Amino acid sequence: MSSQATPTLNLKGIGASPGVAVGHAYILDRKRVRTPKLRLAEAEVDPERMRMKTALDLSDRQLSDLKDQISKTEGPEHALILEAHRLMLHDPMFVDEVNRLIVEDRINAEWAVRRVARKLKHLFDNIPDEYFRERRSDVEYVADRVVRNLMGQVVDEEVVLPDHAVVVSHDLSPADAALMARSGRVAGFVTDLGGQTSHTAIVARARSTPAVVGAGRASEQISPGDLVALDGTRGLILVNPTEDQLALFHETMRRHQEFEAKALEAKDLPAQSTDGFRIRLVGNIEFPEEIQSLLSHGAEGIGLYRTEFMFLDRKSPPGEEEQYRAYRQVLEAMGNRPVTIRTLDLGGDKVPGKGKHEKEPNPAMGLRAIRYCLANRELFRVQLRALLRASVHGNMRMMFPLICGMSELREARSELEACRTELGRAGVPLGKRFQVGIMVETPSAALIADRLAQEADFFSVGTNDLIQYSLAIDRQNRDVAYLYKPLHLSVLRSLKNIVTAAKEAGIPVAMCGEMAGDPVYALVLLALGFDELSMTAGQIPTVKSIIRQSSREDAQRMLDAAMDLTTAEEIERYIRTEMDRRLSDLA
Ligand code: PEP
Ligand code: MG
Repeated sequence: MSSQATPTLNLKGIGASPGVAVGHAYILDRKRVRTPKLRLAEAEVDPERMRMKTALDLSDRQLSDLKDQISKTEGPEHALILEAHRLMLHDPMFVDEVNRLIVEDRINAEWAVRRVARKLKHLFDNIPDEYFRERRSDVEYVADRVVRNLMGQVVDEEVVLPDHAVVVSHDLSPADAALMARSGRVAGFVTDLGGQTSHTAIVARARSTPAVVGAGRASEQISPGDLVALDGTRGLILVNPTEDQLALFHETMRRHQEFEAKALEAKDLPAQSTDGFRIRLVGNIEFPEEIQSLLSHGAEGIGLYRTEFMFLDRKSPPGEEEQYRAYRQVLEAMGNRPVTIRTLDLGGDKVPGKGKHEKEPNPAMGLRAIRYCLANRELFRVQLRALLRASVHGNMRMMFPLICGMSELREARSELEACRTELGRAGVPLGKRFQVGIMVETPSAALIADRLAQEADFFSVGTNDLIQYSLAIDRQNRDVAYLYKPLHLSVLRSLKNIVTAAKEAGIPVAMCGEMAGDPVYALVLLALGFDELSMTAGQIPTVKSIIRQSSREDAQRMLDAAMDLTTAEEIERYIRTEMDRRLSDLA
């Protein structure tokens, strides 16, 4: 295991699935096969078309088998991607064009497939939209499969991975990612391409497998068998680390595993303080694939489903039916656990159908979230109808983002009621009424929380924005990131005000911003009296463990003392010291 002889290489990518992994590199080299280029004699044209048809049929059967395998283990979402690949095999833009080249240009099928694929990819290239760039790779996966089949090569060759393999690849097809993750042998993934929402990232997150994507030329720089340590939270990759670095990684990993194992034992136990204050720990999701991981970490529900992610990176928004299916899938997967679905938080940094919109001078303060929906009524109504229809399939709650004042809440609610009436008249089954809450994430909402609590069924505090707007720090701007302080006295006072207003009005109060899942703040939030904290799956065990070993009364004393201090630095230093003292094993 010693790596003294080889110099360590530090690589940086995008942390796509949190956690730390150490393992030997398995380079998945799905290199493109060299395409033979042949001119055909006239008599060869018909047999060539037959050969093409046989390869298409075979590809179709392979994809159909793969789809069956994957839908059993990975759920229907992944299978849908393979179904899209199958459809491409039957698409006239692909098949007819290949046949045309065989007949008219008299070239062999492999060459024709590559030419058509290049043309299709080029079409996608010219659309400045990430969703379509991803479709480029789908064209490539499909073309590659057909060419391999034409050449009689082994396709879907079972990859026999060594245990604890760090799979390194230029790119991973959805089929490869899902099949390998399923093998249970993958310690982590590294890919040259991809972003947070690439398929590898989603599969990895759903399986809690650490992953770094967008890692440049990692697949060329890492050799088979290299020892690789990766940190999927920070996007770091160490190739052939020194003994010291390795020891640190192993130690972090050991602690993490020990903690996870202990936490899993407590998976079904309540997050209750030693003096009996019960907090519901729930999860944040962007995609339905993340549910499996939430459940295995003991989430008691979903506290924030960011529905706008379904709208990003695609040309036209999903229609009512597609949305209805997604919401229903999430609700059904969660059984009778509560699921809080947030209506679209588009605008700001989350702009749908890129290119079409003029950039606002100050997007964070512009037409985003509920403002965007109230300005785009039909888009809003489509979502509300889909949500109303889906609500019969589970324990749904709904909330509106970025509410700044009562008028917005009333307007949004009246739109919801109009949709309810419309669907009711059409005889659509709607089930019982669900709770309608608001995200409290602006200083204005925090200051009038007592009034908003009269008409909202619950509050969920979005600290990511509340801090941004309270401290006047653009959360996207690196230059002011050092000023982003969840323990700023103004933030603590706002939180206190919000919780007090909710308690006085007798409505539940949750937090779903990043602050909710950070262990450092767990006792502050216990002291403040939040009923529910919503975070990513991996954070649930740690926060639960802290709550289970602490008393609320003690946490309140700590918070009172902290709030007597003034600067954010003083408060943070105090809280960190107190947390270390109480929970040294969590440091
Ligand atoms: C928040 O602002 O804290 C929040 C949860 O919403 P988002 O991060 O999606 O803006
Ligand atoms: Mg927000």
